[in-house]
Amino acid sequence: MITRTIGQVADMCGGQLIGTASAEKLIVGVSIDSRKIGENCLFVPLGGAQVDGHEFAAGALRSGAAASLWQRGHEGAPEGVLIEVDDVLEALQMLAAAYLRETSAKVVGITGSNGKTTTKDMVFALLSTSLRVHKTQGNFNNHLGLPLTLLAMPEDTDVAVLEMGMSDLGEIALLAQIAPPDIAIVTNIGESHLLNLGSRENIARAKLEIASGTKPGGLLVYNGDEPLLPLVLKELEGKLPEGLRTFTFGLNEENDDYPTGIMQQGSGMAFTTRREADFCFSLPTLGSHNVTNALAAMAAARELGVEADKMKKGLAELQLTGMRIERLIGVSGLTLLNDTYNSSPTSARAAIDVLAGLEGYASRVLVLGDMLELGDEEKEYHREIGRYAGRSGIEAVCAFGPLSAEAAEGASEVMNPEAVYAFADKAQLIEHLCGRLKPKDVVLVKASRGMKLEEVVYALRDAP
Ligand code: ATP
Ligand code: MG
Repeated sequence: MITRTIGQVADMCGGQLIGTASAEKLIVGVSIDSRKIGENCLFVPLGGAQVDGHEFAAGALRSGAAASLWQRGHEGAPEGVLIEVDDVLEALQMLAAAYLRETSAKVVGITGSNGKTTTKDMVFALLSTSLRVHKTQGNFNNHLGLPLTLLAMPEDTDVAVLEMGMSDLGEIALLAQIAPPDIAIVTNIGESHLLNLGSRENIARAKLEIASGTKPGGLLVYNGDEPLLPLVLKELEGKLPEGLRTFTFGLNEENDDYPTGIMQQGSGMAFTTRREADFCFSLPTLGSHNVTNALAAMAAARELGVEADKMKKGLAELQLTGMRIERLIGVSGLTLLNDTYNSSPTSARAAIDVLAGLEGYASRVLVLGDMLELGDEEKEYHREIGRYAGRSGIEAVCAFGPLSAEAAEGASEVMNPEAVYAFADKAQLIEHLCGRLKPKDVVLVKASRGMKLEEVVYALRDAP
């Protein structure tokens, strides 16, 4: 983590040291939570909707923080070492950017509508076979999480693998300014954040801010199956970094890399690729969308000199962040696929493809909760996903939530309506599932975060 003198930190974040402290004293790491103060850390008092972090600065200093940032002119400055800044959040971002510049770490920046966290975990697994790698923890992917990720990075890191998330235009541009990627990845374009951005074109524009922010001579790796990406890249002609190279991946054979064979293998996938033609890779997670995520990650690893045999080892040992098609065993051996971290039409279709592709189960059941933040067309999106599920060949659909009731309607149009159920009450949904599911069944649970459908997964796992 960042280790610099107080004087250096003040310079790096454009602040001014107040008080009589020795500018030579060391700061080790940063904290934004006064309940988690590391010895000699820098306390960063952020303003929240309800609380103002400045109120906790005195306590943080008493608990062992070496210094605290302090917004210039803010009332109630405590005793102790303060670094005055114009804006605390901007100072944190400046500090992170300056720290990154002082290390020799290369940056892999990952954006896209779906698959950022998964691809980040894959890049990490591939690079860790031969390099010192630091990655975003969990989903710390925004204007606050990204600087905190950088400031937690060991000084001798070779590569920082950073997830870059957004909910509106301009946000990826800021993240790429803090941490300009050497390699930028755009996993896909979906419909997440359609409510803010209004159109899929704008989502593509927002994601491709990462291309404009990539270092001169850097590599842009993008999903070539998505026609909007080359179109928006064309709009950016003349505004892109000098010498930017591009590399496309996807299922389509026109891409620079694509799978030459894909097969489900137990609870994972086996695949071969055009680029590493002599190897067969295995991936401990389901879905052809995860194979394309892997192709993106492999492009980054190849650029950083990782050999194919190391890629094979790295992918096989991949550790994924939970709740992304996570396989669990439920009561009396029932197979559960927990995909409740998030949902959108694109990722719901990917999940349905996974479920429909499973063999050897008595019944394949989809539990579908609402997909949130889809804007005006939300009902139609749900109806369409219902039809997609209905046509996929799975045995049953259980919908939960007011929007998913539309999905149930859509499913009933194209499959046996007696195999389609809609619930408004989670306890009733659980009761229904406990009553009908048998050990040889598989159930995939998919919904937006706000629906908290992991409660259903855990109820099925832990049912007496
Ligand atoms: P968030 O924006 O919430 O941070 P993310 O982009 O980090 O999401 P993941 O957490 O990796 O994405 O995955 C979220 C959901 O999208 C999971 O259900 C996962 O199975 C699905 N998913 C992952 N990759 C893809 C892909 N390439 N295409 C479609 N769906 C995907
Ligand atoms: Mg994520």
